Amino acid sequence: MASEQESAAVGVGVGEPMLSHGILVHGHPVDEETRCVHYHGRNDIVAIQFACCGLYYPCLHCHRESADHDVVRWPAARLDEPAILCGHCGAVLSVRKYVAVVGCPRCGSAFNPGCRAHYRYYFDLPGPDGGNPARCRPAAVDPRI
Ligand SMILES: [Zn+2]
Ligand SMILES: [Zn+2]
Ligand SMILES: [Zn+2]
Repeated sequence: MASEQESAAVGVGVGEPMLSHGILVHGHPVDEETRCVHYHGRNDIVAIQFACCGLYYPCLHCHRESADHDVVRWPAARLDEPAILCGHCGAVLSVRKYVAVVGCPRCGSAFNPGCRAHYRYYFDLPGPDGGNPARCRPAAVDPRI
């Protein structure tokens, strides 16, 4: 039984959506550069649009904990559509562009290279990883950051 109203995508009480460069980032962001409670290292500055709801979340876990539906990975047919927000400068990259760079083409900020291992959980890309979201856990956060 759904306890939330259909319009409750924003502010359902389990997270605090936050504006980053004019884009509303859902889930559990902790700052305007889209770091979240799960990934908040220095380079964790992207938010990702999910195909299921069209909303931006900092990470898969934010989506899982806040959304009332399963993730639909960004489809291969839409890799050229803007879907990745650089929380540092507000540039929005296509998935195809994002997976081809190590940092933001506009501001030069480095992206977390560890995210590369998780692409299959977010994007319908060819790759060696089978992509079982149940196996995706937040990486240990570097306590020095
Ligand atoms: Zn969704
Ligand atoms: Zn998160
Ligand atoms: Zn940027």
